[in-house]
Amino acid sequence: MRITDVRGRVIEMPYPRPFVPSWAPEGAHRAMSAVIVEVETDEGVVGVAGGDMGHGTGPMLLAAVKDWIRPQLVGLDAFATTHVANRLRYVAEYVFPRPWVVGVAVWDAVGKACGRPLYKLWGGHAGSVRAYASFGEVRSPAQRAEDSLRVVEEGFQGIKLRVHSATIDEDVAQVAAVREAVGPGVAIMVDANQAAARWRYAPDGSRLIWDYDRALATARELAGLGVAWLEEPLPRHDYRALCELTTASPIPIAGCEHNRGIGQLVRMLEDGCFDIFQPDANESEEIGALRDFGAMAAARQRRVIPHAWATGLGVAGNLQLCASLPNCDWLEYPYDPPVIVPEVFHSMLTKPLLPDSSGMVGVPEGPGLGVELDYATIESLTVQQV
Ligand SMILES: [Mg+2]
Repeated sequence: MRITDVRGRVIEMPYPRPFVPSWAPEGAHRAMSAVIVEVETDEGVVGVAGGDMGHGTGPMLLAAVKDWIRPQLVGLDAFATTHVANRLRYVAEYVFPRPWVVGVAVWDAVGKACGRPLYKLWGGHAGSVRAYASFGEVRSPAQRAEDSLRVVEEGFQGIKLRVHSATIDEDVAQVAAVREAVGPGVAIMVDANQAAARWRYAPDGSRLIWDYDRALATARELAGLGVAWLEEPLPRHDYRALCELTTASPIPIAGCEHNRGIGQLVRMLEDGCFDIFQPDANESEEIGALRDFGAMAAARQRRVIPHAWATGLGVAGNLQLCASLPNCDWLEYPYDPPVIVPEVFHSMLTKPLLPDSSGMVGVPEGPGLGVELDYATIESLTVQQV
């Protein structure tokens, strides 16, 4: 089954109101920008995938698709996924660091050709994965307590809060208010979003917000609130500090959504940088290699819980990965009403991926990613294509 074409498009999904993610010191976002790629084959099978391409990087991926990825992949056997992965690594090293969504689309074509969902091709057996509601904004403790109660009533068993306040006391106050509201039975995760340089500074760029001492002090405070993990507390390349923090912290330390490539992932695993690794099938490395990485991490008693702050199509790829991993017990599900809701994030799918009343998201049983695209909606959202 030869690859005959690779196409890409950028879509913009308007938000119902401006959204101020904790990781956007520059201000409110008015829309979610994302990409959709299609890999066409000579057997008529078309693989699709999609991911978040914020901060205006979608057009850069399209340029890479047109000038590099398409010429590199056309003519290859789609089943030769390790060969595809190496071609994408070449692109990642020289042209654009996040071409991995194309690898997910190739795998979607493989699954469709086999008539099986990817997680079954990869040995998974769980038909559903427990989802946690991943919030995106920093809101007042009282507001977050109310928000959390509502999503727990809807069925979610876990919630991820963002902390990005000036002081530890303010960060902890939000988490404490939520713990008091939801009680001891709900998992609370805390994401500091400190791994990437642009998020580590005060809005005016004048000073660092977090350092090692603040990360450890925060972890100790959060331990008293029964927090499930502290995510991205330090710069992504400070391997030594991450290892020291993971060793010293009373709660699990999670991260690596921004560490690219299998080389970095293996290095961080060997160095013990995290208790929980969070590579993203669309952002971090080729999805088949992430399945392999999951096995390596399982052999070291580490969990792999992929990052999945993405559209419904982006979540679909990570959901197949989650369901195939022996050491993954949560699915990140972007959900922060009234803005981050399936009506916006899943609008490119004919059927949104919805959690049930127990907060479980069923893995689609259709072939490949198991999802179908709503092309009428996609056309209306498309702002650029190649
Ligand atoms: Mg994160």
